[in-house]
Amino acid sequence: MSLPKFEYVIAHSIEEAGNLAVELGDNCMIMAGGTDVIVLMKDRVLKPEYILDIKGVPGMDQLEYVPGEGLKIGALTKLRTIQTSKIVKERFRAVADAAHFVASTQVRSKGTMAGNICNASPSADTAPILLVLNASIKTFRTSPDNGRTIPIGEFFKGVRKTALTYGEIVTEINIPELGAGEYAAYIKHAIRKAMDLAIVGVAAWLKMDGSKCVDCRIALGAVATTPIRAPQAEQLLIGQELTDELIAKAGVAASESCSPISDVRASAEYRKDMIRVFTKRAIKKALETNKA
Ligand SMILES: Cc1cc2nc3c(=O)[nH]c(=O)nc-3n(C[C@H](O)[C@H](O)[C@H](O)COP(=O)(O)OP(=O)(O)OC[C@H]3O[C@@H](n4cnc5c(N)ncnc54)[C@H](O)[C@@H]3O)c2cc1C
Repeated sequence: MSLPKFEYVIAHSIEEAGNLAVELGDNCMIMAGGTDVIVLMKDRVLKPEYILDIKGVPGMDQLEYVPGEGLKIGALTKLRTIQTSKIVKERFRAVADAAHFVASTQVRSKGTMAGNICNASPSADTAPILLVLNASIKTFRTSPDNGRTIPIGEFFKGVRKTALTYGEIVTEINIPELGAGEYAAYIKHAIRKAMDLAIVGVAAWLKMDGSKCVDCRIALGAVATTPIRAPQAEQLLIGQELTDELIAKAGVAASESCSPISDVRASAEYRKDMIRVFTKRAIKKALETNKA
């Protein structure tokens, strides 16, 4: 299918991008890798008058680990770079896994994690792991300030809706360092092994003291209008020894906490049941992976 007509504008600096985004107005769409934007335009879901291409903006494709602070992922860093990074695999295994779960090598070689979350699809594979790892999103905007930091828990507002204001551009995703006894995992259930959106996705983060869970966060993808936390399941685990029975109960609690829709991929009932199963598996995987 062909693309609708649009004007193609290139930004060469973040300041220029911020100014252009405001100047071009409502009908301007920011584009990084374009793996969502182009498909949605071909499907006529998006019909922007202007495409503002930011991929030439310098200094936004970094992937840096700062000991004691964590991981800094530039908004233009490709998913493939994240997936294959030695340091990410060593210290943030679950983040590399989540990046790997997106699409295919070709798509990951173009697409970015920032684009994945800014597209704000309920099934975005990198959203649940960013939620449980308490990531924060750094932005640039020309007004009313030069940008801000948005906690990931406040980022998703609805299907294709984020907390970004008019002309605001994500510059970096920050993931805090995993401390001693902290483990994380993301797993996805889809019909096909690759190139398929999640029927459900579940991320778990656990802070353990021996076999006792001191703190915990669980996030669910593809079962609500945004990726969501599962607080009832988390509360069941916090302060407890993690037995198989308790982990199974947490799976049930997570399942009861979501109200998914039925669509071409799965029925609501199936999704709920898969949340039960995959929450259990995500918790166990986090426990098995040591420092994820
Ligand atoms: C065949 C195929 C299979 C796919 N499979 C999966 C899958 O399994 N799992 C999954 O989660 N996704 C999947 N996707 C979706 C897609 O690849 C990801 O969402 C990708 O990460 C988007 O990144 P991008 O850089 O290409 O974003 P773009 O397409 O450039 O942009 C996406 C959105 O984010 C906005 N945006 C991008 N960067 C910024 C920024 N820095 N600041 C503000 N707004 C910004 C754009 O305006 C747009 O709204 C698939 C896509 C295709 C084409």
